[in-house]
Amino acid sequence: MTEATAHLPPDANLFAETYLPLSAHEATVEANRCLYCFDAPCLQACPTHIDIPTFIRKIGTGNLRGSARTILEANFLGGTCARVCPVQELCEGACVLNSEEKPIAIGRLQRYAVDHVQERGIQLFQAGAATGHTVAVVGSGPAGLSAAAELAKLGHAVTLLERRELGGGLSTYGIIVLREPVEVSLREVEAVKALGVQVETNLEITDSAGLDALLAEFDAVFLAVGLGAVPAMGMPGEEHVVDGLQFIEESKVNADALHVGQTVAVIGAGNTAIDAATIARRHGADVTMVYRRTEAEMTAYRHEYEFALHEGIGYQFLTQPVRVVTDGDRITGLECVKMILGTPDASGRPSPKPLPGSEFVIPCDQVIKAIGQEKPALAVELGLKLDHGYIAVDDAMRTSVPRVYAGGDCVRARGTASTVMAVQDGKYAAAAIHQLLSEHKEAAHG
Ligand code: SF4
Repeated sequence: MTEATAHLPPDANLFAETYLPLSAHEATVEANRCLYCFDAPCLQACPTHIDIPTFIRKIGTGNLRGSARTILEANFLGGTCARVCPVQELCEGACVLNSEEKPIAIGRLQRYAVDHVQERGIQLFQAGAATGHTVAVVGSGPAGLSAAAELAKLGHAVTLLERRELGGGLSTYGIIVLREPVEVSLREVEAVKALGVQVETNLEITDSAGLDALLAEFDAVFLAVGLGAVPAMGMPGEEHVVDGLQFIEESKVNADALHVGQTVAVIGAGNTAIDAATIARRHGADVTMVYRRTEAEMTAYRHEYEFALHEGIGYQFLTQPVRVVTDGDRITGLECVKMILGTPDASGRPSPKPLPGSEFVIPCDQVIKAIGQEKPALAVELGLKLDHGYIAVDDAMRTSVPRVYAGGDCVRARGTASTVMAVQDGKYAAAAIHQLLSEHKEAAHG
C-alpha cells in the first residue's frame, strides 16, 4: 500500500467503483426511511423528474422491476445518472430529511434498482408500433441515447451514428471507473439496441453536406455532438502535456497502456481535472492540481473537491503554468507564476493577473491538462445558427434548420453542462420530433 491509498481498506480494489452496491437489506432499510412526501421536493429537484418517492416505495416492497421501470420511464440513463449526478446538489440536496439526520441515499437506491434489471439483461420497454418514419441521431452520448430510446418507444425507426468505436460518449470514455465502469454505459447502449435502434459506430458527419445527406435520407435529425477539442494554452513545451480526457479514456478502455508519472501536475480545477488527478493518485503518483483562481472559483462540484483532498491530492491555487520544463523529451517540471485576482471578467469571476517576479517551478515528471473543451466547431461547419458559439435551439430543441434538432453539451450556451440535463434534452427533442412527424402524417392523410 502506498501513501496515496493509505486511507483505503487493505483489500480495496483501487479501480473499482468508490461506492459499493447496497445489499438487499441496506436498500430495504434505506427505502423504509423515506417519508414518501406529497409534492416531494426531491422529485422537483430532478431535471428529468423521476418519481423518486414511487421508485423508493417499490424498493421497500421488493418490487425492483417496477422500481426500475419508474426510474427508466423518466430517465433512460438512470444507471449512469445514479452514479454521476451531483445528487448532493439535486435530489438529495432537496430531501426533507436533510434537516433531520441525513438525506435518503436516492442515488444509491436508484443504482440498486436499475442495476438489478440491467445486470440481468432484463429489457423493460418495447419499440412502439412502427410509424414508418425515420430519424437519425448523431452522437451516442447521454442526449443521443435518451432521444433514440424515446423515439424508438414511439415507433420511429432510429439510426444512431457514433464516431467512436464504442457507444455511450462521455459515460463510456470520459468518466473514471471509480464513478462509472464502462460496462454500465455499454449496458445502456444495449438497452437502446434492444428497442430496435440501429447503432452505427465509426461514423460521423463533418460538414453541411453530411447533414444534407442525412436530411435526404431521414425524416428528422437530432444532433448530440458534444463539445470540441481541448484548447491549447500556448505555453512552451505544451507538446509534452497529456490531455486529461485522453488520460481518463486510456484508464478506462486501455488501462494496461496507461502511463502515469511519479510526480504529476494537473492543470485545471473542474471535474475532469479531479478525475484525472484521482486516477494518477490511485496509481501511486504524488499529484498537485494547479489552478489560476482560488478554491472559491473552482468549477468542480464541492464534493468532488473534498474527495480529492481526502485522496491526498495537493492544490496550488492562484497559480498559472507558463512553461513545461524539459530535459530532452523528459519533463522535469512545470514553471508557474503566482496570480492575484482583479475585477470580474466576462464569466463574472474575478480575472487573475500575474504577479511579476513570482515565477517558480513545480518539480514533476508528467503534466496533465484538463481545462475544459472548446465550443463545438462542428456547429459552424454545419451552417447552423449559433448562440455564443453553441448550436442555437428553441424550447423544443429545434435548430435554425427545419427538421434538425439538437441537445446536450453542444447547445449548453448557458448554465452547467451535465449528463442529466443532456438526458432531458433528448426527451424534449424526441417529443418535438414525434409531434412534427405526427403532424406530417395527419397532413398526408388529410
Ligand atoms: Fe423521500 Fe426525501 Fe424525497 Fe421526501 S424528499 S420523498 S423523504 S427522498
